Amino acid sequence: MNEPIPISAVAIGPDEEALVLEVLRSGRLTQGPKVEQLEQRFAAAHDVGQAVAVNSGTTALVAALQALGVGPGDEVITSPFTFVATLNAILESGATARFADVTEDFCLDVECARALVGERTRVVLPVHLYGLPADMPRFDELARERGLSIVEDAAQAHGARVGGRSVGSFGVGCFSFYATKNVMCGEGGMITTADADVADQLRLLRNHGMRVPYRYEVPGHNYRLTDLQAAIALPQLDRLQAINDARRAHAAHLSEGLRSVPGLRLPSVPAGREHVFHQYTVRVTADAAVDRDGVVAGLAERGIRAGVYYPRLVHDHPSHRDHPRVVVDETPVAAQVTAEVVSLPVHPRLSRTELDRIIEAVTEVLR
Ligand SMILES: *Cc1c(COP(=O)(O)O)cnc(C)c1O
Repeated sequence: MNEPIPISAVAIGPDEEALVLEVLRSGRLTQGPKVEQLEQRFAAAHDVGQAVAVNSGTTALVAALQALGVGPGDEVITSPFTFVATLNAILESGATARFADVTEDFCLDVECARALVGERTRVVLPVHLYGLPADMPRFDELARERGLSIVEDAAQAHGARVGGRSVGSFGVGCFSFYATKNVMCGEGGMITTADADVADQLRLLRNHGMRVPYRYEVPGHNYRLTDLQAAIALPQLDRLQAINDARRAHAAHLSEGLRSVPGLRLPSVPAGREHVFHQYTVRVTADAAVDRDGVVAGLAERGIRAGVYYPRLVHDHPSHRDHPRVVVDETPVAAQVTAEVVSLPVHPRLSRTELDRIIEAVTEVLR
């Protein structure tokens, strides 16, 4: 029996080891020069003026909403097909969450979002799910028309582009460095913005509202990233192009091998958008030989660890269903895809042989 193929795998090499050792030996383990270097390189890599490092993708989202002045009475429109952090951050800010449907590409539908915009709407919050950017030029148009701010949940989309522009440059961009993400350091996050005032607010919020020690300008948090974490993320950021290229090549190989499997709908990339394949996600359609959960089980038997992101809509849990600031509208496309999606391993450490094993297993399960 072959070794099981995991859905994700960390790639830490000698560059990360050397930089972590350098920080350890410097004795400076808190936020310092490595964090600053990471911020500068991250901003440059995403064509945006400012980047502010924080300690997770979740706190990036909370701080972004707070820096924009979002609070109780305000509404934020987002996708129901996302990780719970997106919703929890909205609730943490005090705002009310509204959910627009997604399109067949799994990203927030601009027209459905437009239909929900009302008096109280302050922010539209698209999620670049699986590494595919949402239709940002059209969200940009909507935001300008209706006087809204954009917050991008780019936790899965480091380096992705749309219309030649990087994600995180359309609004306030929120990235995650959690262990499985395209750039990672265990736990960490980054916020991008072109607005220097927003960046200034973010820097205050992450450090208890202090610009100078013990002068508190706003009530804040401790959302600081450490130099040890930055030392792990920096070499990966330098390799981002290669990481994303490898993921794209693996996705292309999977799509080539799976294109005539019945009952399977492969990911497609709309014109003008660059996918970075944080996940390679297929849909098991109604005419398939087995259903989605059957596919996951069949793959597990063959040593392939597939993932289901996400098995239910984000608000459809006992923890959130009856929350007074969670307002649910019908989202039929999201409801359907959540029952059909399965993500196959696509991470950069996969070999050609392993990719072929995945193709063979999927083909067998759906025969
Ligand atoms: C990972 C993730 C987050 C949260 O990031 P953390 O660093 O884990 O807090 C938010 N949104 C999405 C879509 C994610 O995948």
